[in-house]
Amino acid sequence: MKRIGHIIGGDGIAEGDVTSPVFNPATGQQSGEVLLGGADEVALAVNAAKVALPDWSAMPPAKRAGVMFGLREVMKARSDEIAETISAEHGKTHDDALGEVTRALEVVEFASGIPHLLKGDFSSAVAGGVDTHAVREPLGVVAGVTPFNFPSMVPLWMIPMALACGNTFVLKPSEKNPSSANLIHDMFTEAGLPAGVLNVVHGAKAAVDAVLDHPDIAAVSFVGSTPVAAYVYSRGCTAGKRVQALGGAKNHMIIMPDADLDQASDALLGAGFGSAGERCMAISVAVPVGEETAERLVEKLGPRVRALKIGPSTDGEAEMGPLITEAHRDRIAQLIGAGENEGAKIAVDGRGLTLQGYEGGYWLGGSLIDHVRPGMRVYDEEIFGPVLSVVRAADYGAAIELIDNNPYANGTAIFTRDGDAARDFTSRIKVGMVGVNVPIPVPVGYHSFGGWKQSIFGGHGIYGPEAIHFYTRLKTVTTRWPTGIRAGAEFKFPTMN
Ligand code: NAD
Repeated sequence: MKRIGHIIGGDGIAEGDVTSPVFNPATGQQSGEVLLGGADEVALAVNAAKVALPDWSAMPPAKRAGVMFGLREVMKARSDEIAETISAEHGKTHDDALGEVTRALEVVEFASGIPHLLKGDFSSAVAGGVDTHAVREPLGVVAGVTPFNFPSMVPLWMIPMALACGNTFVLKPSEKNPSSANLIHDMFTEAGLPAGVLNVVHGAKAAVDAVLDHPDIAAVSFVGSTPVAAYVYSRGCTAGKRVQALGGAKNHMIIMPDADLDQASDALLGAGFGSAGERCMAISVAVPVGEETAERLVEKLGPRVRALKIGPSTDGEAEMGPLITEAHRDRIAQLIGAGENEGAKIAVDGRGLTLQGYEGGYWLGGSLIDHVRPGMRVYDEEIFGPVLSVVRAADYGAAIELIDNNPYANGTAIFTRDGDAARDFTSRIKVGMVGVNVPIPVPVGYHSFGGWKQSIFGGHGIYGPEAIHFYTRLKTVTTRWPTGIRAGAEFKFPTMN
């Protein structure tokens, strides 16, 4: 059976007593086992990263960029292999996995411009004969802790930017689908990254705690669920680290009465059910404005949700795959039942789906739940599955209020042809990433990604320009060269005069 081990200082480590099984979600069969590291493995990885740090951080940024250019070529050449590795342990369709690779490439491309991005500021003559320049320097050894749902893209939201800035890195990927992390390491090595600059420690809570407590890790980037994000932020900050922790989501899409309902239904199907709803930017709540809009929308959506093509990643026709684990599938099924008990109307019920030849897989059909309201579990909890709730809003104001009262604030969208409404929405809504007739407004690699409220802890979004600030610290140098003129000792606070 395949054994997925750590990679520390460029060496693979396959020995260890504590392991966790890895499954193929389409069949439910175990495909391998992953080592679960703890404090010892994290300490070894931090040591390797510390040894690699002086040379890597002293390397001219243009040379570090050379590795990113190399990685881009390697990833393009191996994109099918990356996608297959993702799908084998996650279950998403091949096309969807290729999309993940493409979005990860955007970050690699942005990081390739690091010489320009790290250019500092210079002010000549801030006082007589005095100049000031400001530079951004790497933090040192930094770490990333990542979720299961984008096993390639989310690590690559972090690693290229952190490394390009001159840091060395310890990655703790999800134990549910760990193979992608080792493939990322392999591709970086092929691109010319020196040993020890990137290290992979597999594991679960014990490994994360060791990362959070290790005194030589300067910063931690985390992406995952909100309770763990809050924990990581608090424990990491207490240990004196810089922490960014991106959490869960409940993303609403408002459908105005003037919206093109065919376009809105297409958007809801893709954004609600793509990747089986296991995306932090999935639309999980449709908010039609007005009863007539709601009736027309539900009428259009019902047959299309029922007709979703569900299958393994090897089925080129499949529109979505299985859930990540049996427990996750069962929790979602239970939440659908709770919605029914609490008075929502199950317009399409995806429970109980089986697929011939894949009877052991973690399948769930698409579900559409109408007349959902705040206070119902199906609304209050992040479902992270192929379930679209419809919360009917009496008017535009009620729709805005619904979104603003939700504790999550990752993404949102409005579908309308009315520029006034769209402009009001984008300026008024308290959410981090906003779409106008765009259901999944994930910013491109040269912008930054991040929600608000319970969807993020810490002051920086991930990748893009915010990553430069997160992975570096500012140094400001004020310079005066001897001119032969002595002003004498000055005891008042220095000023320009
Ligand atoms: P998760 O929080 O269970 O796990 C994330 C990481 O934390 C994993 O590496 C895991 O090993 C570790 N972990 C889990 N429990 C822990 C604990 N008690 N203590 C310390 N570490 C722990 O998340 P997941 O199920 O892998 O991923 C799905 C979640 O991630 C969803 O909530 C989704 O919304 C969120 N997500 C958010 C974003 C974003 O950008 N905001 C992106 C992707 C996913």
